[in-house]
Amino acid sequence: MKPTRRFLMQFGAAAAGLAPASRLAASAPDRRLGYAIVGLGGYADVILPRFAECTHSRVAALVSGSPEKARRYAERYGVPQSGLYDYRTFDRIRDNPDVDIVYVILPNGLHHEYTLRAAAAGKHVLCEKPMANTAAEAEAMIAACRAADRKLMIGYRCHFEAANREAMRIVRAGEIGRPRVVTAEHGFNIGDPAQWRLDRALAGGGSLMDIGIYSLQAARYLTGEEPTQVVAMESTDRSDPRFKTVEDTINFQLRFPSGAVANCVSSYGSHHNRYRVVGTEGWIDAEPGTAYSGNRLRRLKDWRAEDHPVPEAPQNQFSAQLDHLSQCVMTGAEPIVAGEEGLRDMRIIEAIYRSAREERAVSL
Ligand code: NDP
Repeated sequence: MKPTRRFLMQFGAAAAGLAPASRLAASAPDRRLGYAIVGLGGYADVILPRFAECTHSRVAALVSGSPEKARRYAERYGVPQSGLYDYRTFDRIRDNPDVDIVYVILPNGLHHEYTLRAAAAGKHVLCEKPMANTAAEAEAMIAACRAADRKLMIGYRCHFEAANREAMRIVRAGEIGRPRVVTAEHGFNIGDPAQWRLDRALAGGGSLMDIGIYSLQAARYLTGEEPTQVVAMESTDRSDPRFKTVEDTINFQLRFPSGAVANCVSSYGSHHNRYRVVGTEGWIDAEPGTAYSGNRLRRLKDWRAEDHPVPEAPQNQFSAQLDHLSQCVMTGAEPIVAGEEGLRDMRIIEAIYRSAREERAVSL
């Protein structure tokens, strides 16, 4: 019998000791769980069209501060009038049996509140990254979902993306030897000073919370290790109107128990999207590394650098992520990027800020 692509993805991941994102497909009932999308902004525009490619997920409700936008989106995505809410009426979602999962795609500073309200309404939660403004908020979100016996997953889409999964497999399988140095760079030159990303109350911080978190995540999921120490250096022009309350560039180093180290860039002033893991026998490199599409891999093998093909995946990263949580809800399995994964990042992020502020290494 010819193995299916899905089987090959699972088998490849299993060989490397990775949790296969699609492992639950066979055991999940053949039905689609209803998602309520909270916040109809830029990233919701990326997510909403991807439900069309899901097999276990559908859009059931929309939550927006703009009734006109909600009506327009409802028409486009086939959401009934009874599935439209604003931020005041949000709690009534508890009476909507069509909604199984609430997807919080709001500014970071609102993740905590809406996760708590969703759990209180008896709904499972998918919450965007960064999980919250602080580790204390993240802890409260985990506790609330646990008390309500609801799943909590964080929107770490790269764990569902084929190139990133292949890079993880290569490193974990020892194909580049023992990882020694990870380099991960993420940044972009941010625009409008009036946007919420540059307002500390709504963003929790600057580039690190928004884009540098991809460098942190990559260093952790590529090595499969948790850092024991961080050292960070910040560089922000406080006379720039964009950086009145949040940081621009904050670079950090992580030390892992195996002796591997990571050099990470986080910037709101320059464009970066790549990572490289250098091991004792070679390296794997990705640029772009964590984009919405078109991530490319190269590797050094037998002293030669060459393109490395990205395995075909049965689903894009967005619909795979949505279906994964639906499958977890239906089967009772834990998401591969549960709330605890978001909390680990929040604790490391707080240590990074502390290291930069106090100009010293911080142990974790
Ligand atoms: P946007 O500013 O584009 O959208 C946020 C939406 O939240 C707004 O359109 C608005 O929707 C709603 N909102 C409610 N209250 C406020 C408020 N006080 N200020 C601003 N907006 C508010 O942000 P993004 O969609 O880019 O980001 C949202 C979240 O998604 C963030 O946590 C971000 O980190 C994450 N994200 C994740 C990505 C990923 O790849 N995983 C990529 C991009 C973002 P409405 O008008 O409907 O009320």
